[in-house]
Amino acid sequence: MKAKRHILVANWKMNPLTIAEARSLWRTSVKYTSEADKVTTIICPPSVYLGRFPSQKSKRIGLGIQDVSSERSGAHTGMISALMAIDAGATHSLVGHSECRKRGDTDEIVNKKMHTALDVGLTAIVCIGEDVRNDNGTHLSFLRDQIENTFKGLSKKHIGHVIIAYEPVWAIGAPTAMEAHDVHEMSLFIRKTISELFKGIGLHSLPILYGGAVTTENAGDIVNIGHVDGLLVGRQSLEKDSLKQIIEILNS
Ligand code: PEP
Repeated sequence: MKAKRHILVANWKMNPLTIAEARSLWRTSVKYTSEADKVTTIICPPSVYLGRFPSQKSKRIGLGIQDVSSERSGAHTGMISALMAIDAGATHSLVGHSECRKRGDTDEIVNKKMHTALDVGLTAIVCIGEDVRNDNGTHLSFLRDQIENTFKGLSKKHIGHVIIAYEPVWAIGAPTAMEAHDVHEMSLFIRKTISELFKGIGLHSLPILYGGAVTTENAGDIVNIGHVDGLLVGRQSLEKDSLKQIIEILNS
């Protein structure tokens, strides 16, 4: 059977602190990805480093901005336009990361950012996820509302340009990830919800990634038992040895 292709999103967050270290991490990430022909890696450095890496011909390496403005230009001090990101070589944009949602991004703002990114030609990596998980299932209705609001207006033409990153907020930066069988249950729930809410558009085929405390120990189970299309990795994407192992796991 043909092995499945996987996506790795490496979210560097506000690291590393120098361009020399960033270039070194970039080179290593590109090297490990080039040795793994079933993996596409999208590297999301701090935006100040965009445009400072050599351009890549390989379709298996993407450059992502960690957040974009919902506006294309104008009086928005401190913000970065999706058009600027493209000019600096970006192919992707994260939108709705929980750390941005914590700073005030509502579902409505995330939706606007997603459309702005898509309209100018970026692929949007749209982060969703519940703050808490409980036995009476309120996290499911929370997620359903978040999906409905965040993906409003998505149409057939967006297929191929949207990646869903399911990141339970309680797992991001935490010591332990979600159990792999729970990841499977949640990815099925997300797919079912998307196909119910956006009937007939074919969005059920969008790639779904898992993010939140992924390590070399849990990556294999999350992908194989969790049945996701890849991983969004924060801390471990900064550690060259861990990154190498995670890429190898995704390639196997
Ligand atoms: C993230 O940055 O979205 C993330 C999942 O971080 P970590 O892997 O460190 O939990």
